[in-house]
Amino acid sequence: MRRDPECIFCKIVAGELPSKKVYQDDKVTAFHDIHPIAPVHILIVPNQHIASVNQVEPEDADVLGHMFWVARQVAEQMGVAERGYRLIVNTGEHAGQVIFHIHMHLLGGRPLGRMLCQS
Ligand code: AMP
Ligand code: ZN
Repeated sequence: MRRDPECIFCKIVAGELPSKKVYQDDKVTAFHDIHPIAPVHILIVPNQHIASVNQVEPEDADVLGHMFWVARQVAEQMGVAERGYRLIVNTGEHAGQVIFHIHMHLLGGRPLGRMLCQS
Protein backbone atom coordinates (compact mmCIF):
# COMPACT_ATOMS: atom_id res chain seq x y z
CA MET A 1 0.00 0.00 0.00
CA ARG A 2 1.49 3.37 -1.08
CA ARG A 3 1.65 5.74 1.87
CA ASP A 4 3.10 9.21 2.58
CA PRO A 5 4.24 9.46 6.22
CA GLU A 6 3.49 13.22 6.26
CA CYS A 7 -0.03 12.94 4.77
CA ILE A 8 -2.97 13.59 7.11
CA PHE A 9 -5.41 11.52 5.01
CA CYS A 10 -3.00 8.55 5.08
CA LYS A 11 -3.00 8.95 8.88
CA ILE A 12 -6.81 9.14 8.99
CA VAL A 13 -7.07 5.97 6.86
CA ALA A 14 -4.70 4.19 9.28
CA GLY A 15 -6.63 5.45 12.35
CA GLU A 16 -3.62 7.46 13.55
CA LEU A 17 -5.59 10.73 13.40
CA PRO A 18 -9.20 11.03 14.59
CA SER A 19 -12.05 11.29 12.09
CA LYS A 20 -15.77 10.55 11.91
CA LYS A 21 -15.68 7.61 9.52
CA VAL A 22 -18.88 6.63 7.75
CA TYR A 23 -17.45 3.84 5.57
CA GLN A 24 -14.22 1.85 5.24
CA ASP A 25 -13.14 -1.22 3.30
CA ASP A 26 -9.80 -2.56 2.05
CA LYS A 27 -9.60 0.06 -0.75
CA VAL A 28 -11.50 3.20 0.29
CA THR A 29 -12.34 5.26 3.40
CA ALA A 30 -15.09 7.89 3.79
CA PHE A 31 -15.33 10.37 6.68
CA HIS A 32 -16.97 13.69 7.58
CA ASP A 33 -15.19 16.84 6.39
CA ILE A 34 -13.92 18.75 9.43
CA HIS A 35 -15.29 22.07 8.02
CA PRO A 36 -18.57 21.10 6.32
CA ILE A 37 -19.95 23.53 3.71
CA ALA A 38 -23.27 21.68 3.29
CA PRO A 39 -25.52 19.65 5.65
CA VAL A 40 -23.86 16.52 4.23
CA HIS A 41 -20.15 16.87 3.45
CA ILE A 42 -18.21 13.62 3.26
CA LEU A 43 -14.71 13.01 1.92
CA ILE A 44 -14.08 9.73 0.06
CA VAL A 45 -10.42 8.77 -0.30
CA PRO A 46 -8.43 5.78 -1.56
CA ASN A 47 -6.59 4.01 1.26
CA GLN A 48 -3.41 4.19 -0.82
CA HIS A 49 -1.68 7.54 -1.29
CA ILE A 50 -2.30 9.19 -4.66
CA ALA A 51 -1.47 12.91 -4.44
CA SER A 52 -3.95 14.22 -7.03
CA VAL A 53 -5.55 13.46 -10.40
CA ASN A 54 -2.23 14.62 -11.90
CA GLN A 55 -0.58 11.48 -10.47
CA VAL A 56 -3.27 8.96 -11.52
CA GLU A 57 -1.90 5.90 -13.37
CA PRO A 58 -3.79 3.21 -15.34
CA GLU A 59 -3.37 0.70 -12.48
CA ASP A 60 -5.38 3.07 -10.21
CA ALA A 61 -8.53 2.56 -12.29
CA ASP A 62 -9.93 -0.14 -10.00
CA VAL A 63 -9.74 1.90 -6.80
CA LEU A 64 -10.91 5.11 -8.49
CA GLY A 65 -13.90 3.32 -9.99
CA HIS A 66 -14.65 1.80 -6.58
CA MET A 67 -14.79 5.32 -5.09
CA PHE A 68 -17.91 5.99 -7.20
CA TRP A 69 -19.61 2.87 -5.87
CA VAL A 70 -18.69 3.98 -2.32
CA ALA A 71 -20.14 7.43 -3.15
CA ARG A 72 -23.39 5.71 -4.04
CA GLN A 73 -23.40 3.75 -0.76
CA VAL A 74 -22.57 6.83 1.33
CA ALA A 75 -25.20 8.96 -0.46
CA GLU A 76 -27.83 6.35 0.42
CA GLN A 77 -26.54 6.05 4.00
CA MET A 78 -26.63 9.86 4.47
CA GLY A 79 -30.13 10.13 2.94
CA VAL A 80 -29.21 12.32 -0.05
CA ALA A 81 -29.36 9.77 -2.86
CA GLU A 82 -32.91 10.56 -3.92
CA ARG A 83 -32.77 14.37 -3.95
CA GLY A 84 -29.23 14.53 -5.27
CA TYR A 85 -25.71 15.49 -4.40
CA ARG A 86 -22.50 16.74 -5.98
CA LEU A 87 -19.12 15.01 -6.23
CA ILE A 88 -16.09 17.31 -6.51
CA VAL A 89 -12.42 16.42 -6.99
CA ASN A 90 -10.25 19.53 -6.68
CA THR A 91 -6.91 19.27 -8.47
CA GLY A 92 -4.05 21.71 -8.00
CA GLU A 93 -3.76 25.39 -7.18
CA HIS A 94 -6.53 26.89 -9.33
CA ALA A 95 -9.05 24.39 -7.95
CA GLY A 96 -7.99 25.16 -4.36
CA GLN A 97 -6.67 21.70 -3.53
CA VAL A 98 -5.12 21.91 -0.06
CA ILE A 99 -4.73 18.22 0.88
CA PHE A 100 -2.56 16.35 -1.61
CA HIS A 101 -4.13 12.92 -1.15
CA ILE A 102 -6.77 12.54 -3.84
CA HIS A 103 -10.30 12.86 -2.44
CA MET A 104 -13.87 13.18 -3.60
CA HIS A 105 -16.13 15.64 -1.78
CA LEU A 106 -19.74 14.35 -1.50
CA LEU A 107 -21.98 17.38 -0.88
CA GLY A 108 -25.72 17.40 -0.35
CA GLY A 109 -28.65 18.00 1.97
CA ARG A 110 -29.74 21.28 0.37
CA PRO A 111 -29.94 22.78 -3.14
CA LEU A 112 -26.31 23.34 -4.11
CA GLY A 113 -26.75 26.17 -6.59
CA ARG A 114 -24.77 26.60 -9.75
CA MET A 115 -21.78 24.40 -10.40
CA LEU A 116 -19.33 27.32 -10.37
CA CYS A 117 -19.32 30.88 -8.99
CA GLN A 118 -19.21 33.47 -11.76
CA SER A 119 -16.12 35.31 -10.49
P1 AMP B 1 -9.48 20.31 -0.91
O1 AMP B 1 -9.56 21.81 -0.94
O2 AMP B 1 -10.26 19.68 -2.02
O3 AMP B 1 -8.05 19.81 -0.82
O4 AMP B 1 -10.24 19.89 0.39
C1 AMP B 1 -9.63 19.46 1.58
C2 AMP B 1 -10.73 19.25 2.59
O5 AMP B 1 -10.20 18.52 3.68
C3 AMP B 1 -11.31 20.55 3.15
O6 AMP B 1 -12.71 20.60 2.89
C4 AMP B 1 -11.03 20.45 4.65
O7 AMP B 1 -12.06 20.97 5.45
C5 AMP B 1 -10.86 18.95 4.85
N1 AMP B 1 -10.02 18.54 5.97
C6 AMP B 1 -8.80 19.01 6.30
N2 AMP B 1 -8.32 18.37 7.38
C7 AMP B 1 -9.27 17.46 7.73
C8 AMP B 1 -9.37 16.48 8.77
N3 AMP B 1 -8.39 16.30 9.68
N4 AMP B 1 -10.50 15.75 8.84
C9 AMP B 1 -11.49 15.92 7.95
N5 AMP B 1 -11.45 16.81 6.94
C10 AMP B 1 -10.36 17.57 6.83
ZN1 ZN C 1 -1.94 10.22 1.74
